[in-house]
Amino acid sequence: MSEEKKETKHKVRPATLVTQAGRAPFDHFGFINPPVYRGSTVLFPTVADLEGLRQPYTYGTKGTPTTRALERAWSEIAGAADTVLTPSGLAAIGLALLTATRAGAHVLVADSAYQPTRIFCDGFLARFGVNVEYYDPLIGAAIAGLMRPETTAVLVESPGSQSMEVQDIPAIAAAAHAHDACVIADNTWATPLLFPPHERGCDLAVEAGTKYLAGHADLLIGLVSANAKWAKRLRHTFNAFGMGSSPDDASLALRGLRTMALRLREQERAALDIAQWLQDRPEVSRVLHPALPTHPGHELWKRDFNGASGVFSVIFKDVSKKAVAAFVDGLELFGIGFSWGGYESLALPFDCASYRTATRWAPEGPALRLSIGLEDVDDLKSDLEAGLARLKVS
Ligand SMILES: *Cc1c(COP(=O)(O)O)cnc(C)c1O
Repeated sequence: MSEEKKETKHKVRPATLVTQAGRAPFDHFGFINPPVYRGSTVLFPTVADLEGLRQPYTYGTKGTPTTRALERAWSEIAGAADTVLTPSGLAAIGLALLTATRAGAHVLVADSAYQPTRIFCDGFLARFGVNVEYYDPLIGAAIAGLMRPETTAVLVESPGSQSMEVQDIPAIAAAAHAHDACVIADNTWATPLLFPPHERGCDLAVEAGTKYLAGHADLLIGLVSANAKWAKRLRHTFNAFGMGSSPDDASLALRGLRTMALRLREQERAALDIAQWLQDRPEVSRVLHPALPTHPGHELWKRDFNGASGVFSVIFKDVSKKAVAAFVDGLELFGIGFSWGGYESLALPFDCASYRTATRWAPEGPALRLSIGLEDVDDLKSDLEAGLARLKVS
């Protein structure tokens, strides 16, 4: 199995693919995993070779066999023509937006996007003459009404960060493509295993590999995959930045990849179990989990997704912020912190009201996001149960 012969004879299912993709053991003396190639300079045998750049690797910023193994694996899993790696998920969002914008361009961004995406748009892209407009994530095909001749990109994120709105991505993509705009998806929640971005009409798909790909809260990495139409422009933008990812992190991410399908399956099961249990609790007003039939985006989720990951949100009944803090502070198994997708469960109170501009976030009570890890579900429920009791006394 050499790098050149990466086609497998039979089409395999996703859980198998994550164990196979990007590996070429006999390029590395039979060792199962590619080694960590650290390097800046790559030597050429002759001046003619250097001038012709006639070898697979030419300089460290353009990639090493370790980073390329992850890029190739991800392209196969995402059904993409190419993938580039970045030092974080946020860097991947920036790179994708810069690939599909120019001075004078108009860009549409879902109002429910990851908040730092907005900071990149408003605090950075705007300085370069890009006009960013936020839209209601539930707009669907009506996004056609917001398209302008100079609209070059539409960013979707489904479900929305924290608030969990499910977007009609195929309808949005169709409207964007009618105007030749690039559809960029932040696909971090689902990963390509649960939402095949390019099959659903996205041109560029961003993954914060920091989350489910890494899976262990021990590294930062981003990935941008592209369909055939956008692959060249993406690679060109990537090379212009010299924004490579470290081979050590790529190697850790490849290790994470091998168990990603297994972890997602377990985290889906555990999160859905806990979401259903929370839904029936008197302290809880609503659980925002797209796999619950009560979720407004459930039908779209069923149509477009192959499953759910382990992150969802809860809206409490009208209790104080202080009571929620007591709930969270006393949890023994859930950590308090940003990010998610690791083996450890996390809880994060949130409020989207301060930064929404196209829609209003005004739930009936305080909100909490949970990322379910790999602990025993009954232990997690006991921890939450004790937390719910603290809601009442605070
Ligand atoms: C965490 C996250 C990112 C950013 O990833 P980092 O590696 O932490 O920069 C981007 N998008 C979404 C939806 C995220 O949850």
